[in-house]
Order: sequence, then structure tokens, then C-alpha cells
Amino acid sequence: MGRLILLLGVVIGAVVLIRRILSISLPHQTDKIKKTNAEKTPPDETQPDTIDEPMLKCRQCGVHSPKSKGFSEGEHFFCSNEHKSEFLSNTNKENTS
Ligand SMILES: [Zn+2]
Repeated sequence: MGRLILLLGVVIGAVVLIRRILSISLPHQTDKIKKTNAEKTPPDETQPDTIDEPMLKCRQCGVHSPKSKGFSEGEHFFCSNEHKSEFLSNTNKENTS
């Protein structure tokens, strides 16, 4: 019975030791990896949206905006919803007067 308790103590001691070693070494490594990734990724993530995206000229103010960020009405393109409604209200006035 004495040996069994001794063996159990050794096993528990070994498990605790291994856990300590793992908890000390692993989190630090993952922290470093996360930090280096965080430092590297931001500049790369800002560009992909604008690449290969057609730039269209706003019918109202003439500013070029990415197609996905603007608003289109028929064959006309607008940089903002405001300019779209402005242009539409202007054309409506011209048509009625
Ligand atoms: Zn505009």
C-alpha cells in the first residue's frame, strides 16, 4: 500500500510538473505569434478591396468612387445616395418644367 501511494505521488508530481512546463512555454510562444501577425496584417488588409475594382465617375459631382461603394441608377453612377437623389430630383424638375 505504501508503494502505491508513493507511485501515485510521483505520477501526480510528474503531471503537475509537465503542466507547469507546458503552461510556461506554450502561451508565450502563441503570444509572440499573435503579436507578429497583428503587426504584419493591418497594412495588407487595407488594400485588397480597392484592387481590381472599377472606379466610376459620379454623375452629380464628377468624383471617382469604387463601384461597390457608390450608388447606380440605370446607366448613371453616383458617389453617394445623396447625389443620386439630387441628380434624380434635378432631372425630374427639368422634365416637368
Ligand atoms: Zn458625387
